[in-house]
Amino acid sequence: MTEKRRPLTRREFGFLIIKQDCLCGCGCKQRLDFTKPKLVTDEHLNSLFSGGKNELENRALWLSECSKPKTSAEAPDRAKVRRIEQGKTQADRRAQKKAEGKHRPIAGRGFAGSRKFNGEVTWKT
Ligand SMILES: [Zn+2]
Repeated sequence: MTEKRRPLTRREFGFLIIKQDCLCGCGCKQRLDFTKPKLVTDEHLNSLFSGGKNELENRALWLSECSKPKTSAEAPDRAKVRRIEQGKTQADRRAQKKAEGKHRPIAGRGFAGSRKFNGEVTWKT
């Protein structure tokens, strides 16, 4: 199950600033900008949905502009994990319909017989 995002404490935040030498954690070598709110995000290096934990070793401070591509690149996988965890995959819905007796097999195309290779037709009765 995906762990819930836990915000960093002030102490952890300060620890990461020192550990990263006040530079962005993505490796772009830009300085973290604290002049405006929301310019710095705390990233989970191994994303929560892929089994990452809230532990400090898995956290880093990134400039928001650096974290955006990572976040959006992960969106499809994150959505898939959520569907699986909530039991909302296509297979889950099909199984549910079947259980409710609402499952209809795909309708045929109106040919009620079957044709053999020699052209002979047998009609289903
Ligand atoms: Zn960066």
